[in-house]
Amino acid sequence: MVTVSKQLADVKAKIKKACERSGRQEQDVHIIAVTKYVTTERAIEAVDAGVRHVGENRVEDYREKYDEIGTRAEWHFIGSLQSKKVKKMINEFDYLHSLDRLSLAKELDKRAEGKKVKCFVQVNVSGESSKAGISPSEVLPFIKELEQYQALEVSGLMTMAPLTENESELRHVFSELRKLRDLIQAESLPHAPCKELSMGMSNDYEIAVEEGATFVRIGSALVGSE
Ligand SMILES: *Cc1c(COP(=O)(O)O)cnc(C)c1O
Repeated sequence: MVTVSKQLADVKAKIKKACERSGRQEQDVHIIAVTKYVTTERAIEAVDAGVRHVGENRVEDYREKYDEIGTRAEWHFIGSLQSKKVKKMINEFDYLHSLDRLSLAKELDKRAEGKKVKCFVQVNVSGESSKAGISPSEVLPFIKELEQYQALEVSGLMTMAPLTENESELRHVFSELRKLRDLIQAESLPHAPCKELSMGMSNDYEIAVEEGATFVRIGSALVGSE
């Protein structure tokens, strides 16, 4: 297996080039190592190699890694989340990337123990029925409704692009999310600074960075997928 350190260097070099092509600063792009497919040892290797953000998508699966890594990394919950599982995980994760309904917001608000829950609102930009997320036209009214949940802070927006090699289609999805982010930022809502864009995975992160991603979520291309 290729070392994480080598793959991290490769990912960073590609992000640097994508930043150069689009006039962005490399330090504005944060790499989340998605460790959901790999062992705790491999996740520790990633942190030892310099990864500062770890992403997991199942409440059942992150515990062993969390016990080993703890606050050496920031923890990102990137999967769909059932309300009944919120209390198990919420005080250990730093960010939730999958806020997609008010009932979940209510539960997060109830369970957060004296801290802000930093959330990304998940947006279904591509409109595929298989994808979670709020439709673009509903994002602003949804975010306005979140004001009532004082423990929540909307850090940004998240999307998953369709599984395609079609670059213009990918670019379109990412740029639509960026426009939506700009629109929400322009509202200057105190509970929704909405500065961040969580977009881009192993197959499409370079395009996502060119289109403004501030968090890329990379699993297979960084830590592997087995
Ligand atoms: C699994 C997963 C990723 C990482 O996928 P790769 O293609 O392996 O990089 C990113 N985001 C979400 C929401 C995921 O579930």
